[in-house]
Amino acid sequence: MAQYTPMIQQYLAIKKDYPDTFLFFRLGDFYELFFEDAMLASRELEITLTGREGGTDERIPMCGVPHHAADGYIAELLKKGYKVAVCEQVEDPKEAKGVVRREVTRVITPGTMMEGKWLTDKENNYMAAIAEVDGRSGIAACDMSTGEMYVTSLTGTGQLVLDEALQYRPKELVFYGFDTLPKTSIPSAAIASGQLHEFAVDEQYQSQAKDLDMAMRTAVNVLLYYIGTTQKRSLAHMRQIKRYDARQYLQMDGFSRRNLELIETIRDKTKKGSLLWLLDRSETAMGGRLLRRWIERPLRNRQELTSRLEAVEALKGDMLLRSDVRTCLDRVYDLERLAGRIAYGNANARDLVQLRLSLEAVPELKQLLLQTDSSVLLQMANEMDACTDLVDFLREALVDDPPLSIREGGIIRTGYDAYLDKLHTASREGKTWIAQLEQREREATGIRSLKVGFNKVFGYYIEVSKANIPNVPAGRFERKQTLTNAERYITPELKEQEALILEAEDKMIELEYQLFTAVRNEMAKQIPRIQELAERISTVDVLQAFATVSDERGYVRPQFSESGEYVIQDGRHPVVEAVLEQEKYVANDVTMDQDKRQILLITGPNMAGKSTYMRQIALITVMAQIGCFVPAKQASLTLVDQIFTRIGAADDLVGGHSTFMVEMLETKHALQKATSQSLILLDEIGRGTSTYDGMALAQAVIEYIGEKIGAKTLFSTHYHELTGLADTMHGVVNVNARCEERDGKLLFLHRIEEGRADKSYGIHVAELAQMPHWVIERARSILTGLEAGSSATSTDMQMSFEALWTAPVAAVSEEPSPPAHPEELAIIEELRDLDLNQTTPMDAMMKLFEWKKRLKQG
Ligand code: ADP
Repeated sequence: MAQYTPMIQQYLAIKKDYPDTFLFFRLGDFYELFFEDAMLASRELEITLTGREGGTDERIPMCGVPHHAADGYIAELLKKGYKVAVCEQVEDPKEAKGVVRREVTRVITPGTMMEGKWLTDKENNYMAAIAEVDGRSGIAACDMSTGEMYVTSLTGTGQLVLDEALQYRPKELVFYGFDTLPKTSIPSAAIASGQLHEFAVDEQYQSQAKDLDMAMRTAVNVLLYYIGTTQKRSLAHMRQIKRYDARQYLQMDGFSRRNLELIETIRDKTKKGSLLWLLDRSETAMGGRLLRRWIERPLRNRQELTSRLEAVEALKGDMLLRSDVRTCLDRVYDLERLAGRIAYGNANARDLVQLRLSLEAVPELKQLLLQTDSSVLLQMANEMDACTDLVDFLREALVDDPPLSIREGGIIRTGYDAYLDKLHTASREGKTWIAQLEQREREATGIRSLKVGFNKVFGYYIEVSKANIPNVPAGRFERKQTLTNAERYITPELKEQEALILEAEDKMIELEYQLFTAVRNEMAKQIPRIQELAERISTVDVLQAFATVSDERGYVRPQFSESGEYVIQDGRHPVVEAVLEQEKYVANDVTMDQDKRQILLITGPNMAGKSTYMRQIALITVMAQIGCFVPAKQASLTLVDQIFTRIGAADDLVGGHSTFMVEMLETKHALQKATSQSLILLDEIGRGTSTYDGMALAQAVIEYIGEKIGAKTLFSTHYHELTGLADTMHGVVNVNARCEERDGKLLFLHRIEEGRADKSYGIHVAELAQMPHWVIERARSILTGLEAGSSATSTDMQMSFEALWTAPVAAVSEEPSPPAHPEELAIIEELRDLDLNQTTPMDAMMKLFEWKKRLKQG
């Protein structure tokens, strides 16, 4: 340490307290970063890395950004999940003895951003904390910009806990405990270690804290303490802690959520193309955020769902009413974030005018909702507090179109404050007096060209042209400035009036500022009312969004049956349907129950529509359980407690696992957690390993689900052999994605039909590819042999495995001519395993050449 220069020593001393944070160290007009910070920042921000003498032999790595441009760079770092501590010079360099004193004045973190420019309207900016207490995990999340705070707890400390926290898509995640969790694998959230401070829960939360268990309370404490150490501002708008039980919602693990593209697409991580995108017909930013929360947390409570559906029905049925409701909602600004800014004391006069305009829309909205026959909407309307007292107050206090700045006056309306009005009058009268002065002095002096003017340096003056100077009254006019053609004068009277005007104006600005802050403080006291109203308005907004989409896209109200039946007639995939242009989406039925049709085995070639069908069923379930109508002609569903999906392989390579390992982990997860009320969607399980290995696994998984879990399951497979299970296992039914050949071309009908797919399909494709006739014929005969093998064992599971292992040998031995050469068998095996979807025509050609060559040699 001692070898460093005093300034670098100061830097290191401050940096010690902010180890995981970029320290922006103010040096004149720049913020400089040193050492590792500099090296990392130069890479992340693409700025030049330089060096600086610091007392050691080697120069110290350094890079910097101009202070006036710092915000942009800080935003960039926050977006990447970093934290920034801004360290300012806190004494005048001229007066400093030795090194200028510096202190960290604010710490900006991704989860605690309040500035509008860094936030997205229709997205919450959550930060979350997870705390472990005696094997139980508390999860608390809050959005400082809106004041929401949620808390829950779960038994255990594993992936489920993390999933629950990640559901908020927190920009920042604070851990307390959890030394074993692989925190590095957490996507796009800044990670911090929390400290517990006993007194962090302050008074406003005390009364609520008694409803929380230790794990929840600890999580809230850690969260609030963490916020407290970075933000030193009021958290007055974060007054309500909403406790919930995760089990009251339909649960989905992180993978399933991503896979179903509920909030964003897998491929480019954008909202466009997701369910949220399709359903988001909200008019307000608050509604947009609530919709997102609803999609993340589908319900399981029939009663709550019925009330949502009933409201959607009422709004869907009356297009005129709905359009009026939408117009009303369109007038409502972001009340939640306005409340946040009011609490923080950074709301300006325009914000308060927006608050008033929003409140003014409420009476009409209430009126409209009262016309419906939905009990929920009626109740909501009756509970909406139009805050007319606040509207009156704001209207009396503030002008309609105030400036952005609250330090330049022009904010307060006439009539609101008597003294302010007096000052206004004084200033106005002064100005009138001056305006009339010109006329008066012209008459008094007889100088017709005499003018009254104003400039910044001298204030008001009287100007007389050179030619008229002899007529200027000597004693009364005092010369102030000489121009080429004129002289400028002042009079004692003029200066007196001027002083009055200026004084009045100064006072007015100061007084307006004070009056405005008082108005704002008054509003701060009303935040709970505003927040409650915001909650009702956003609920109505989401319900009308559902009604709007449902009406436009011809969705139907789902019914929930107790019988365990799950029947969809003419169901569609909502998003695929919406983006298909020319082609029309082919609607499909599904019939499942707890007994004979518990597991559907879907066969059919690639691209036939199997996974779209599975996703469609999951999405219809989610839509129904958030209270939206569904894309079908008719839907009679059962409430589902959890959805598990294992579809596709788009982002499999997370955390360094192989695709197959990920597949197995996720399947295991489903098998462990699913219940008879769950929905399981498994796509081509076992594909990642050798044929028999994979097939055996697939069959065992199906058996386990059928016998031990009883969950409704859709299982797509390219192992045709598995279709035999329908004959041997109760509850398993075959369906297939139909295709046809027309004029030597394959036609995907995208229609799901009862029964198994045409088994020789793969060979058929090979034929279309003009594979040598010999190979085709040979494949057909081997296939026949295989089938004979597997069907013989269909009565006994144990046997069937053995048969699967021995079948190829048996098949070959039954076939004396042409003789089975090992090379030929190898080629056939390769052909079977060849994934035509992954094969370019060129590759196919090369393969054919290779095979021909090997056959010739053999
Ligand atoms: P598979 O899972 O059988 O390989 P996919 O479900 O991925 O097939 O479907 C392949 C393509 O077919 C998709 O890109 C989709 O656009 C289209 N598709 C699937 N189902 C339908 C349908 N019911 N109507 C119209 N197009 C569909």
